[in-house]
Amino acid sequence: MTQVTVWNEFRHERDSEVVADVYPDGIHAVIADALADAGFETRTATLDDPEHGLTEEVLDDTDVLTWWGHAAHDEVRDEIVDRVHERVLDGMGLLVLHSGHYSKIFTRLMGTSCSLKWREAAETERLWVVEPSHPIADGLGEYIEIDDAEMYGERFDIPAPDTLVFTSWFEGGEVFRSGCCYRRGNGRVFYFRPGHETYPVYHDEAIQQVLANAVEWAAPGDGPTPEFGNADPIEDIDESDDRTVH
Ligand code: ZN
Repeated sequence: MTQVTVWNEFRHERDSEVVADVYPDGIHAVIADALADAGFETRTATLDDPEHGLTEEVLDDTDVLTWWGHAAHDEVRDEIVDRVHERVLDGMGLLVLHSGHYSKIFTRLMGTSCSLKWREAAETERLWVVEPSHPIADGLGEYIEIDDAEMYGERFDIPAPDTLVFTSWFEGGEVFRSGCCYRRGNGRVFYFRPGHETYPVYHDEAIQQVLANAVEWAAPGDGPTPEFGNADPIEDIDESDDRTVH
């Protein structure tokens, strides 16, 4: 069974009544419940847990890690980021959610600033499925509509995604690449935009469906383990002109 670790900064929910009303047990609890209902084995981890809840043991037992952070990206310790990064390159899936665009792990994996435009005005967002045959779009309609969303607008300073699954339109006029797939090393990375802390976005069934589909997609595959370094030839080759300095 695919094992998912749902990571959350878990500060807004404890600092703000408005946020606690929407996510009384934290954003991570709602996401973990939704993924458990979808048939995944889930656990949660938060910033203030020892080692941010991301010990070697936890990560060794994690097929897909989901990441929600916003106000405390800088408090994530670099050695934990190194650890997560290494696991992604080894094949662990990573779902980066909403304001996780500025997390240390995402900016490192992307190699760009990941900056964007934003506005908090409870406006409508329509996420268009622009790659309907992609597994992350399974079971969805042509678009998902969110009544109250924070706006994220282009330009979003990311490398061009390997596959773009969603493009958002906002009531105020902006557009945004909302569902971006990448491969990094052996790992699959999906950035998914919706999820501002003061709006009940993660309670939405269609959003939960995307998260479940994305976990399925990002889970490690069964491909061969690549071998790197100096390699003996598989076929007989004429080495008489070899000029290697030994
Ligand atoms: Zn937000």
